[in-house]
Amino acid sequence: MKRLIYSIFSILLLFGCSDSKQVYTRQVLSFGTQIDVTLFGVKPSKADEAIQEIETQLDVMHSQWHAWQKSTLTDLNDKLRKGEPFEVNPTLLPLILQSQQLYTQSNGLFNPAIGKLIELWGFYKDNPEDNQSIPSKEDIDSLLKSNPNMMDIRISGTELTGFNQDLQIDFGGYAKGFGVDRLVELLKAQGINNALINAGGDIRGIGFVGDRPWRIAIQHPIKDKTLGWIELEDDESIFTSGDYRRKYSVDGKQYHHIIDPRTGYPSEHAHSVTVIHPSGAIADAAATALMVAKPSEWFDIARRIGLNHLLVVDKDGQLYSDQLFAERIVLIDHSQIINNLGSL
Ligand code: ADP
Ligand code: MG
Repeated sequence: MKRLIYSIFSILLLFGCSDSKQVYTRQVLSFGTQIDVTLFGVKPSKADEAIQEIETQLDVMHSQWHAWQKSTLTDLNDKLRKGEPFEVNPTLLPLILQSQQLYTQSNGLFNPAIGKLIELWGFYKDNPEDNQSIPSKEDIDSLLKSNPNMMDIRISGTELTGFNQDLQIDFGGYAKGFGVDRLVELLKAQGINNALINAGGDIRGIGFVGDRPWRIAIQHPIKDKTLGWIELEDDESIFTSGDYRRKYSVDGKQYHHIIDPRTGYPSEHAHSVTVIHPSGAIADAAATALMVAKPSEWFDIARRIGLNHLLVVDKDGQLYSDQLFAERIVLIDHSQIINNLGSL
């Protein structure tokens, strides 16, 4: 991840504006990653103010959405499991509503209700790479049988009730995107219209760097290098999900953090999926869902979610993309899109 961040910055240095004083960059730690906020053409005093607000917002999100440290979400999960009503606050409700919609659009592949499975696979910790064993098939099968999903939550106004004792909401595949959108709203409200927020390689950019677009490097999921780069149009999000981010190995086999709700095992059709969409929240959920999808499902699910840019590196390291992504990406070092999937 660091490599990706460095490559973005070296690119900013190369192609950014000549007056380096106009680019202001700050790092904040949140969502288990480093978040880089780059502002262009903003006075330092105003930039400092904006960063302070961002830090405050990130603290609120952490206290509301954390999946395994005590948060409003873990309180909600306690109630959902017991089938007791929970009065949800305005910070959490929009995530529940939108993720129900994304659950449906992705044919259930994006399913934030499978927190118990994710916990079972040992990802409710900061260092999953230390895991020494995998869950038993019986435990996985039992959760597949009860099939907790987003539609097991009934919403009446601001009251949520669960109808499945295995419900455990986990916004790990989506809250980062939702949060990045919030931060962009906050910047825009302050009159800041040229900015890049990079949450560990998941990025939303608004405006430009002077007279140039924001230029983003995309990491190769298996080779230790950059796959290519792309220039963002005004207000776009580019999100990547991959099997290389959080993982561990047992008996020489690797297990990563994106779980196929149909099999209960880590997804196995792609090394990485990169998507572009105006909304960070939708891009985040879409990238996670498409990591799970089979190749025959990629196009249908991308269309249902409303994407028009998709890039997949499959398990054999082959690149697939739609026509628009193929036109925009500049591949480096002999990478080739050999499977152009046509227009989305
Ligand atoms: P990253 O957070 O590394 O950018 P993702 O956005 O794909 O990657 O999020 C992965 C996280 O999403 C997992 O750690 C887990 O919390 C959650 N998750 C895993 N599988 C699913 C799934 N099928 N649907 C929804 N969320 C999932
Ligand atoms: Mg995601």
